Amino acid sequence: MSSTELWRLSAADLAARVRGGTPAARAAESGFEGPARAWEREVHAIAHTDAEARAANARGTKDGALAGVPILLKDNICTTEFPTTCGSRILSGYRPPYDATAVRRLRAEGAVVIGKGNMDEFAMGSSTEYSAYGPTRNPYDLARVPGGSSGGPAAAVAYGLCPIALGSDTGGSVRQPAAFCGVFGLKPTYGRISRYGLVAFGSSLDQIGIFARHAGDVALAYSVLAGPDPYDATTREGEAPDVSGWERGVGGLSFGWPENLWKEGVEPEVIAGLESAAEWLERAGARRVRFDFLPGEYGVATYYLVATAEASSNLARFDGVRYGFRHEDSADLHALYTRTRSAGFGPEVQRRILLGTYALSAGYYDAYYLTAQRARSRIRREYQDAFARCDFMLLPASPTLPFRIGEKTEDPLAMYLSDIFTIGANLAGIPGLSVPVGLSASGLPRAVQLLGPEEGEPTLLAAGRAIEMKGETSRFDRRHESEFAWPTKR
Ligand code: GLN
Repeated sequence: MSSTELWRLSAADLAARVRGGTPAARAAESGFEGPARAWEREVHAIAHTDAEARAANARGTKDGALAGVPILLKDNICTTEFPTTCGSRILSGYRPPYDATAVRRLRAEGAVVIGKGNMDEFAMGSSTEYSAYGPTRNPYDLARVPGGSSGGPAAAVAYGLCPIALGSDTGGSVRQPAAFCGVFGLKPTYGRISRYGLVAFGSSLDQIGIFARHAGDVALAYSVLAGPDPYDATTREGEAPDVSGWERGVGGLSFGWPENLWKEGVEPEVIAGLESAAEWLERAGARRVRFDFLPGEYGVATYYLVATAEASSNLARFDGVRYGFRHEDSADLHALYTRTRSAGFGPEVQRRILLGTYALSAGYYDAYYLTAQRARSRIRREYQDAFARCDFMLLPASPTLPFRIGEKTEDPLAMYLSDIFTIGANLAGIPGLSVPVGLSASGLPRAVQLLGPEEGEPTLLAAGRAIEMKGETSRFDRRHESEFAWPTKR
């Protein structure tokens, strides 16, 4: 098989070939050759890469569960050989002195890190338009966004640069871009994948998540990445749940169908996707349980207090003294801080720091932050009650199909509302999986989201696989190869 065809393989198949003798460097470079090379020029999924570092990463690799598999990392996951800039000017040129635990685990299984994926600055956003290095475009329609904040990794997996990529999900930043780019996107249970080496945004919400084109590749990457880590005190104790049964089917399982959530404000194509997925799950032997669920607005309000409060404190370390960019023209320390932060952070990040600092300030703390914490406990209970009635829930990943570039950048609230269906999982610490369900009439990816109780990853993957089998996603893969082999502008 020529290297220009290797890019089409799943991670599992690619690794098997490398273990069977195909050179790792050829497997790892396959996405940079052939069609993908043209794609990247249009899509701009990569923030940082360099051929020499990639070759060095592939050298000597022959075995492991991910032998020779190219993996793109969101630009907020630390590695030693590429810059880590979080899509921000304030970290321009910063190179971490260490690898994130997730990266160490990938390398131990033979994976080849090929670079860093573009993202909204400090993972704040839902469209990848807030990157200081320019936006990423949706490979299905270059006039539209790939979602965000992990838009680069999602788009890269969609157009075929690599079969697996890592993102981070604080309020939906893996699941929403996965939905917009027509790939699988898993946000694990809080604490299942170590956050050591993931630049913090909202520490009680952040999780590293997995993008892949196949349900089986998500399971493969999860089994390599998940587990306790002495370097991250918030990882869960004990072995991660076993996801090797991802093909076991959904016979005997029940799924929640909270139809009240899409009574208004959700595009018809999104609802059509939900209905197809529900039918396929039923045909595969699962039972639908109808109930009403807590409307997402409460989650959005709660999230934007908790996340901004935590961000205002986490981002205090970027002061021009320790990392990356420093404003040189400052007479004293105070001016150095102010000028560095004013010039280094973009407008959305500044808005979040202001909101969070305000919510935490004396006099407002009880009214905002404490109220948000109470609301968060309540939301967690609502999910627990729901999972007493079903094994997993089916709901939209996003209320809309991919929107146009520029459509929401002037209206932060409209942008915040694109997370209405994803934010709850982060507040509750539960896992969520975006599953592609074919294309809309206009040729844009459609998707559904599956939510499960803590440690419910095995169930979510089995259900995702059932949809992949029954549904149009395997057809989607064939479309991807034939019709989407070259970028088209609309
Ligand atoms: N879009 C949400 C935000 O802007 C979620 C971001 C994320 O998950 N990192 O905060």
